[in-house]
Amino acid sequence: MDLLKKCPNCGKHFSVEKKGKELVSTEHHMEHVDLDLSSRTEGLMHDSSLQHPPPNQLSEEVAVETETFETSYECEHCRYKWTEKSVDVVEGIADSKEFRA
Ligand SMILES: [Zn+2]
Repeated sequence: MDLLKKCPNCGKHFSVEKKGKELVSTEHHMEHVDLDLSSRTEGLMHDSSLQHPPPNQLSEEVAVETETFETSYECEHCRYKWTEKSVDVVEGIADSKEFRA
């Protein structure tokens, strides 16, 4: 029973049963994340032997997975059935390149 849910048909609380959660779709895409290097490189800038990283290393590609779920509910009071969509976002599922200063 899902106590936070309210039946959209009869409006009753405390009578909604969660029947199941189903994964309907997954999407992958790459996202650019800027790395904040200001704190890491501070104090190291005077070391002339240290090479400055090329600009393309200041951001990294992070794989983002978007999972769409469909949860089905049923009202125990009036037997009304409905589904609700929810989206889960999982970030950084792929091996992220580690930045070495
Ligand atoms: Zn109901």
